[in-house]
Amino acid sequence: MLLHLMTWREVETCLKASTGIMMPIGSTEQHGPTGLIGTDAICAEAIATAAGEIAGAVVGPTIGVGMAQHHMAFTGSMTLRPSTLVSVISDYVDSLARHGFERFYFINGHGGNVSTVRTAFQEVYAQTSIDGGGDRPRVRCALRNWYQQPRVQALARNFYGDKEGYHATPSEIAVTQYVRPDAIKVAELPRPPPPAGGFSFTDAEDYRRRFPDGRMASDPSLATPEHGRELLELAAEDLAADYREFLRD
Ligand SMILES: [Zn+2]
Repeated sequence: MLLHLMTWREVETCLKASTGIMMPIGSTEQHGPTGLIGTDAICAEAIATAAGEIAGAVVGPTIGVGMAQHHMAFTGSMTLRPSTLVSVISDYVDSLARHGFERFYFINGHGGNVSTVRTAFQEVYAQTSIDGGGDRPRVRCALRNWYQQPRVQALARNFYGDKEGYHATPSEIAVTQYVRPDAIKVAELPRPPPPAGGFSFTDAEDYRRRFPDGRMASDPSLATPEHGRELLELAAEDLAADYREFLRD
């Protein structure tokens, strides 16, 4: 159930059965010459929507712009500063906690968000630790990267081997092809060689110098919409099961 498509009365009723909510978080950033700028947000939203259906969970609004400063040398990319994203996440959580939501399960599509999301969770907990929490509900947050679920990784390896790479991967591009077949882009892409200095980088100029077309050792031309369907369904199934565990904890 998407929060966006519910009424306040329906949310009230849902809260009587469960105080959990899934929160998709993505990014708006370059994904190589053929990948959509919205790839990470599209994947997180579609997978969370499907997982929410399986688990009977409310799914909150997608955080569509994430922490992507290192992609800013590519046109169309957007970023929140880490400090801004921490504020956005803690305000989302605090708003929903006011109504009684207690378990926040973030489904993430972008590796660059991970450390900032974890910092945001600490910010949320610190607030209660410092002021004692009053009668606010005791909130618990979890972060899961859809592409790192073990069975999803195994399927991606099976489809693409080491051509999966690390950014603009065929598996994430495949999911967008399945979700948005109207926006598939195709081009011949020689696979970029691994950069001499490895896969670390600092700011946007440094990233672009190391990864000139935006990809990190990936071959997104291997992606197909059918692969995308299989990856999405597997991710949704495993995340829904894990979400149920999270509610029990
Ligand atoms: Zn991505």
